[in-house]
Amino acid sequence: MNGARPTLVGRLGHALASALAILAAALGTAGASRAAVCPRPDALGTARILSVTVGPEGLFVGTKNYPGTLALEDGEVVLTFDDGPAGRTTDSVLAALAAECVQATFFVVGQMAAQRPDQLRRIAAAGHTIGHHSMTHTILTTLSDSAARADVTRGWQTVDRILTGTARARPATPFFRFPGFAATRPLEDWLKAERVAVFGADFWGSDWNPSTPEALLARVLERIEARRRGILLLHDLQPHTAAMVPQLLRELKARGFRIVHLVPAG
Ligand SMILES: [Zn+2]
Repeated sequence: MNGARPTLVGRLGHALASALAILAAALGTAGASRAAVCPRPDALGTARILSVTVGPEGLFVGTKNYPGTLALEDGEVVLTFDDGPAGRTTDSVLAALAAECVQATFFVVGQMAAQRPDQLRRIAAAGHTIGHHSMTHTILTTLSDSAARADVTRGWQTVDRILTGTARARPATPFFRFPGFAATRPLEDWLKAERVAVFGADFWGSDWNPSTPEALLARVLERIEARRRGILLLHDLQPHTAAMVPQLLRELKARGFRIVHLVPAG
């Protein structure tokens, strides 16, 4: 028996080593295949994934709207796109992100998603994070508190039904951005209690205004350079935004910025 025990331990040790080797190989393969599917070896790429946890104190980020923002290093940028899925312009943005192998967060509008459920599924299938932006994009400060909550809830339930087949009281991805950044204290308190993260922004291109893609690109880059880190707000339903995103990503790469992909914890 005494002689058998070391053999057994040895076998188990060997099995464990084999399992670790297989795991290491699998991880290596996953890394390699990720690189292989990227069409350009010099692509911008996603530098890191930031898992976002919402505690009992809630999470309100974006210095345009709140005192603090995400824990980002110098040169780190989070890409966010609002108001889609919007059809052709969203497809252009998706193609640009895919060409550079970067992931973004799309704050989608429920009624837009209901019109284009397949496009919503394609955004999610491409690995992007789906946040929420209400059902109708009504400025919520113009509604009663209960009507505003109903519009927000209907938005994320519409999206979750399309993506997961079910809709619960709390969204599958607890990320929300107020339409027009128009928040009220009762709505913020409710989202905090539901542990839904509320996203403002640290910089934007003012792309809701008419602009040429060139002027928009210059404005976005100037604002990113001034702050060096943060959450960028763009709108994938804007043609001038869709037109400038490929060049924006190339410029971010050339200037040494790195893209951080947000995902919900767990
Ligand atoms: Zn919006």
